[in-house]
Amino acid sequence: MMTPKQYEESLRKLNLVVYMFGKRVKNVVDDPIIRPSMNAVAYTYKLAGDPEYQDIMTAISHISGKRINRFTHIHQSTEDLVKKTKMGRLLGSHTGCCFQRCVGMDSLNALSVVTYDIDQKYQTSYNKRFLSYLEMAQDKDLVIDGAMTDPKGDRGLPPHKQSDPDMFLRVVEERADGIVVRGAKAHQTGAVNSHEIIIMPTISLGEEDKDYAVSFALPSDAPGITYIMGRQSCDTRKLEGGTIDMGNRFFGGHEALVVFDDVFVPWDRIFMYKEFEFAGKLVEVFASYHRQSYACKTGVGDVLIGATQTIAEYNGVEKASHIKDKIIEMNHLNETLFCGSLACASEGHKEPSGTYCVNTLLANVCKQNVTRFPYVIGRLAQDVAGGLMVTLPSEQDFRSPETGKWVEKYFKGNATVSTENRMRILRLIENLTLGTAAVGYLTESMHGAGSPQAQRIMIARQVNMKEKQKHAKKLSGITED
Ligand code: SF4
Ligand code: FE
Repeated sequence: MMTPKQYEESLRKLNLVVYMFGKRVKNVVDDPIIRPSMNAVAYTYKLAGDPEYQDIMTAISHISGKRINRFTHIHQSTEDLVKKTKMGRLLGSHTGCCFQRCVGMDSLNALSVVTYDIDQKYQTSYNKRFLSYLEMAQDKDLVIDGAMTDPKGDRGLPPHKQSDPDMFLRVVEERADGIVVRGAKAHQTGAVNSHEIIIMPTISLGEEDKDYAVSFALPSDAPGITYIMGRQSCDTRKLEGGTIDMGNRFFGGHEALVVFDDVFVPWDRIFMYKEFEFAGKLVEVFASYHRQSYACKTGVGDVLIGATQTIAEYNGVEKASHIKDKIIEMNHLNETLFCGSLACASEGHKEPSGTYCVNTLLANVCKQNVTRFPYVIGRLAQDVAGGLMVTLPSEQDFRSPETGKWVEKYFKGNATVSTENRMRILRLIENLTLGTAAVGYLTESMHGAGSPQAQRIMIARQVNMKEKQKHAKKLSGITED
């Protein structure tokens, strides 16, 4: 396994084509906007190397028998799935942001299931090919960006009917040594902190869309791949050089648009090729795993609850009964999110490939709660914090010889607490509910791993309604079917 330092050095060797604010980013690793997101991924290496967290953060590879980072592991039991949930919460609480590495883990596990299923039907050898790729990724302890979401163009039309056929990533050429693909993947979490990228289709596909039914892995710096960084609310605060106004001094997340401009993929890295009827299954399995992964929000919620309790104390209101009750409500909602992720993990099952997969219904219920509860937790945090969170002068004003004394004097709360510490905790709450971390804690909770309606469709499909009706009819004395 790599150390955080080795991970950072490995990123320096990549030749990524990254653009941000209209310019090419030459030094991605040291860029002050990107760096906190690299720090968050590096933390997945740090905790894996810490004996205290070995059981949660690492696993034994079912291929090589070596100890590996859990982010590259294929789940071999429901216990593995439960540990995955706990790992997400652990890292969320240590980083207070999206640590980005789950999408790769979820795509590896989904492909371990679906490549096997395709082989069963077509006598292909995708699973063998995938397992040798997996072994390489485990040995090198790579960060893999799982890429599913296409730009999608007109949402009412299937891929082949789009006025621009590139709105979904597709095969444009077949060669003796591989294929050429064109298109893009949007909202790619952790894209420029990754060594590899795994592409998967984003929706169920029909025969007319078979050119879009493609899954493969490439090095993140393969020729023809361009990254355009998404910007986040308050992102330029990272350029100001202070230590207060960023809110979270150390960590952050990032998303990017990843463009594939006629990119070559060799056959040995292709895991699905035009088997369109398996696209839906790949999406469903990946989505279920990723909906479980949102246990990360429970960890970030831990940070926000801790910050809320702290500001209550700094404001001198921690004993007020309504404040105590609001913090209880935050904890109740946060632990309910955790329950959902744990439940779908412990109710997991073994797929024909041998991989353990979460319970689909419960994973969707888990994620549906995630589209709601962090917003309520965030609202309660803002309620307790007070309006100062958004009217507070800048760190520069706090440090200024002219204005610092007034900021110091008039923004003091509890006399035993420094104004600076009060400012710091308010900025952290701002960061989590309105700033850069709100991308991960709020909007990504809504739309990441599929928007709310996607989960509702799956819930409707997965519940056994006939069984429920049978019970109701029996108890009420109805004898007809
Ligand atoms: Fe992982 Fe959560 Fe970030 Fe998704 S939002 S990549 S599940 S930390
Ligand atoms: Fe996500």
